[in-house]
Amino acid sequence: MKNSARILSGAQIAEAVKREVAEEIKILDYRLGLTVVRVGEDAASAVYVGNKVKTSAELGIRSEHIHLPAKTSQAELLRVVDELNARADVDGILVQLPLPKQIDENFVLERLNPEKDVDGFHPVNVGRLSQGQTALAPCTPAGVIEILKRSGIEIAGKHAVIIGRSNIVGKPMAMLLLQENATVTICHSRTVNLTEITSQADILVAAIGRPGFVRGEHIKTGATVVDVGINNVSDADFARELFDETELEKRLATIEKRGSTLVGDVNPKEAKMKAANFTPVPGGVGLLTVAMLMKNTVQAAKMRRKTD
Ligand code: NDP
Repeated sequence: MKNSARILSGAQIAEAVKREVAEEIKILDYRLGLTVVRVGEDAASAVYVGNKVKTSAELGIRSEHIHLPAKTSQAELLRVVDELNARADVDGILVQLPLPKQIDENFVLERLNPEKDVDGFHPVNVGRLSQGQTALAPCTPAGVIEILKRSGIEIAGKHAVIIGRSNIVGKPMAMLLLQENATVTICHSRTVNLTEITSQADILVAAIGRPGFVRGEHIKTGATVVDVGINNVSDADFARELFDETELEKRLATIEKRGSTLVGDVNPKEAKMKAANFTPVPGGVGLLTVAMLMKNTVQAAKMRRKTD
C-alpha cells in the first residue's frame, strides 16, 4: 500500500494563531494579564507552566506564575483563587492540573470566575459550549478545530468519530465538532464494535492515552486522523511497529539517548498508509494548546472588560 497521508503540521498553524493574537493585543488600550497557579512539584506541570509563561511574554501578555507548596490546603488555594477573581488586572486564571490529593479539582475549578476561566473547564463555560453560545472553550480541542479549518478540511456534514470522553478533550471536542455541523459519534472503553464505528469516520480524533492504539483497521481510507495522545514509548521493538523507515532511526536514537520517545494514540506507520490527512506526534495538536490559551486570554479580556 502507498504511503500517502498529508502531514498536518501544528507548528505553522500555531505560529499563525500566535501572530494573530499578538496583532490583536497590540491594538488593545490595556495590558492583558494571565496568572498561572501551580501547586506542588509535578515535573510535567513545571514544563507546561514554563511554556505558558514564556509564550505570554512573547506575545505581550503580562504573565504571573504563583507556585504554591505541595502541602497547600484546599482552603489556601481557594483564597488565592478568590484574590485573583477580584483583581481587575487579571484577565485569565489557569490552575494547572493535576492538583495534590488533598485538593478537590472540581471544587477549585468551580470557584474560578467563569469570565477568567481560560482553560474552559468551569461548568458555566462547559454549559455555554454545549448550548452553542459564545464560551471559553478548552484549548486542546479548540486547537484541533484550528488545525482542521486552517488545513482546509471540511467539517460540516462529515462524520466525526472521537475516541475518548474526558472533560478535557473528548467531550468538548464533540461539542466543538457539533458546532461546526459535523455528525458526531463519541466512543469510549465500553463501546462495542469500536472498529466498525471508527472505520466509518471521515474525521477520526484519538484522545485515549494509549500509545499506537488506533491501527490501520480503525481508519477509513482517505480519512483525516487527528492524534491528540501524548505517551512515552521506551520499548525499541514497539517503536519498530509504530514508525516507518523515514522516522524509525531517529526514534530509536531518541530512545537510546533519553530512554523514551513521544508517541500519540495512533500508529503513525499505519495511519499514513490509510489516511488522507494525519497530525503527527510530536509536532501536531500539542503545539496548538498554548496558542489557543493565548487566544482564550484575549477573548476573556474582551468579554469581561466590555462589561466592567
Ligand atoms: P483520559 O484518560 O481522561 O480519557 C481517556 C479516554 O479514552 C476515556 O474516555 C476512556 O474511556 C477512553 N479509552 C481508554 N481505553 C479505551 C479503549 N480501549 N477503547 C476506547 N476508548 C478507550 O485522557 P485525556 O482525555 O485527558 O487525554 C487523552 C490523551 O490526550 C492522553 O494521551 C493525553 O496525554 C493527551 N492529551 C494531550 C493534550 C495536548 O495538549 N495535546 C492535552 C490533554 C491530553 P472511559 O471514559 O470509558 O474510561
